[in-house]
Amino acid sequence: MNKKLKISFYSFTSCEGCMMNILIWLYKNFDFFKDNFEINNMKLLTPKTSNTKEDIAIIEGAISSREQQRKVKEIRKKAKIVIAIGTCAITGAPSNNRNFLKKDEEIKKYIKKFNQLEKVKSIKEAIKVDYEVTGCPVIIEEFEKIMHNLVSKHAQSY
Ligand code: SF4
Repeated sequence: MNKKLKISFYSFTSCEGCMMNILIWLYKNFDFFKDNFEINNMKLLTPKTSNTKEDIAIIEGAISSREQQRKVKEIRKKAKIVIAIGTCAITGAPSNNRNFLKKDEEIKKYIKKFNQLEKVKSIKEAIKVDYEVTGCPVIIEEFEKIMHNLVSKHAQSY
């Protein structure tokens, strides 16, 4: 068994502020991170995408288009553990504000034109989520606690 956990970071519809906070955490905890994790995907660090199986997928943002819905389902299939981070991912807000607008013909035209979903979804409305970390931006102490717990569990398994 690989001693390092293969981890990916994904962003959907959001301001990407949670991922910036994760990046700062990663920088401050670089030794812990490099000793225990191997990055599979992270758009902020590398444009390359890998479709290999991964231990952990960290996801920020809401699901607003058909393409995002397809992609998040793919992520769920290849990741053992999915962690939704931030209010966008957990509740869909604020991106889901458009769900509450009266859908006149003009809005419907744009939803269709840009291949958007009729309603913006949270990550847990789109797929099964194993852990949630709330906050806007994400509460980094809670995120850190989960990371440490997952590393301990993984260490006990080999
Ligand atoms: S939860 Fe807040 S900080 Fe995080 S991506 Fe959404 S809007 Fe940005």
